[in-house]
Amino acid sequence: MINLKDNIHHVNARITQAAKRANRDPEEIMLIAVTKTVDADIINDAIDLGIKNIGENKVQEICHKYDLINNKQDIKWHLIGHLQTNKVKYIIDKVDLIHSVDTLKLAIEINKRAQKIDKIMEILVQVNVAKEESKFGVSIEQCNNLIEQISKLSNVKIKGLMTIAPYTKNPEDVRPYFRQLKDLSIDIKRKNYDNVDMEYLSMGMTGDFEVAIEEGANIVRIGTAIFGERQYN
Ligand SMILES: *Cc1c(COP(=O)(O)O)cnc(C)c1O
Repeated sequence: MINLKDNIHHVNARITQAAKRANRDPEEIMLIAVTKTVDADIINDAIDLGIKNIGENKVQEICHKYDLINNKQDIKWHLIGHLQTNKVKYIIDKVDLIHSVDTLKLAIEINKRAQKIDKIMEILVQVNVAKEESKFGVSIEQCNNLIEQISKLSNVKIKGLMTIAPYTKNPEDVRPYFRQLKDLSIDIKRKNYDNVDMEYLSMGMTGDFEVAIEEGANIVRIGTAIFGERQYN
């Protein structure tokens, strides 16, 4: 059995230590509990233990769990996985931040659906920093161009960048990728696009979140360290 309380406490302690090593305020780092494959009753336990942000990577899972979650007014939902254009309509009214926008086509659909319900949808642009073929995300080279185009959409607001680092046993291996994403965000901030701010840098998972924080992450997405190994049926 996992001990949710200890796990959450331990993750928070590690976030605090990593922030302090980087001379940063731990309060500025948002912890997203990644709840894919986790049942709603366990998510509710996590919420009782102080979790305020939930990350899911599948539209279907969000829709299934949405009404089963307590304290909805205090909870923020994050879509962190690949989003197909034809599924935007199912989550547009449910999620607070979409981390995985990597094409103009997807942003246009989000804009259209957001307009219909009179919402400004906050998004992050997902960047494939390491150029892994298996991963989604725009390349560093094409990121500026994509952001410039998305910034013209009235009901989409770009709030920053997201990346998923390559899987590695040694998190030091991926430090350069986190640094590159931070540099890219500084570069974009300097361009001062209308309707774009670089408030968030979403990077770091169970295996690498401390390094990500040292390199400037202010959103970390953590599943395994909180809920244990995922059980896929
Ligand atoms: C599953 C997932 C995570 C969390 O992974 P852990 O290694 O379990 O912490 C973070 N980000 C994304 C995009 C994910 O799909």
